[in-house]
Amino acid sequence: MAKLRNHRTENRKVFLERHRWLQKTICPICNKRRAERYCPATGEKICAVDCGTEREVTIDCPTDCAYLAAAHHWEQSHPKPLAENEIPFPHVTFSAT
Ligand SMILES: [Zn+2]
Ligand SMILES: [Zn+2]
Repeated sequence: MAKLRNHRTENRKVFLERHRWLQKTICPICNKRRAERYCPATGEKICAVDCGTEREVTIDCPTDCAYLAAAHHWEQSHPKPLAENEIPFPHVTFSAT
């Protein structure tokens, strides 16, 4: 008898913990998507979409934010190619005088 009661309490505890964990993983910014990125600026997990779109907009990410660093690194390693008509004065050369 006592054994059975213990088993039921244990089940309830597991259920509550899982429930809390599920609530925690919902992004607090949009309250829709799954929070999967820990953002140091908000101090909690937010979803990947908000991390990408709100970063440096409404979220003031510190420089040690892993995702901010990754984004900056990506921008640096994928520079926008300069179109030929965007190069100022392509035929002008500067000769040392
Ligand atoms: Zn979100
Ligand atoms: Zn961040």
